[in-house]
Amino acid sequence: MRILIVALSLFGFLILSARPLVVVIDAGHGGKNKGVVYNAIEEKDLTLELAQKIAFFIRKHSNIKVFMTRTTDKNVSMNQRIKFINQMKPDIFLSIHFNAQILLKSNRGFEIYYPADHLERSPQEIFANYDRINRSFKYGALFKKRYFKTNLTTMWKLPLNLFKAHRNLKLLNESKHPGLLLEIAYLTNPDDRSCIENPKFVNDVAWYILSALKQIKIQ
Ligand SMILES: [Zn+2]
Repeated sequence: MRILIVALSLFGFLILSARPLVVVIDAGHGGKNKGVVYNAIEEKDLTLELAQKIAFFIRKHSNIKVFMTRTTDKNVSMNQRIKFINQMKPDIFLSIHFNAQILLKSNRGFEIYYPADHLERSPQEIFANYDRINRSFKYGALFKKRYFKTNLTTMWKLPLNLFKAHRNLKLLNESKHPGLLLEIAYLTNPDDRSCIENPKFVNDVAWYILSALKQIKIQ
């Protein structure tokens, strides 16, 4: 009898621990909010194309549950994005963006932003955010590790930056779930642009992101 109970509780544990990872993919900008515009390239189109490819790969090649903040060319406000994330309660959300640096066109490469500790907040708020920020950092480190391990053919492996929020990233500050903002490449850099224009680029980056998501173990 005891063995049966142990076996049943182990079975129950396996069922519980096998719940799929839940992910929200947030395609930055949309509609009138074009994001960075460089020559004829608009950031809102790049983020949507990549977000859709990531969701497609997730559904086809994993049991991860995926939700998207937008699937068409429409403007979604920052508050709507935050509300959506808080409703879906993902294990992680990924906000997809492309970068620009008009004054320093030599800036290039992939960057990861994660929520900053706001030490000026009250001890209660810091405590409430501790787990979310800690997990975001852990997932950011995992994305960084995968970036160097994955066989990306359309991106150069440049030293990667893992940033705290250097800018006022409302999405990272106000969402209640772990998340990362991925700046995929610089539209203002000619080398990055030639990566982006490679027809294999979207597949390549989406595949890398799926491989990083698959590494996440949920407790
Ligand atoms: Zn952006």
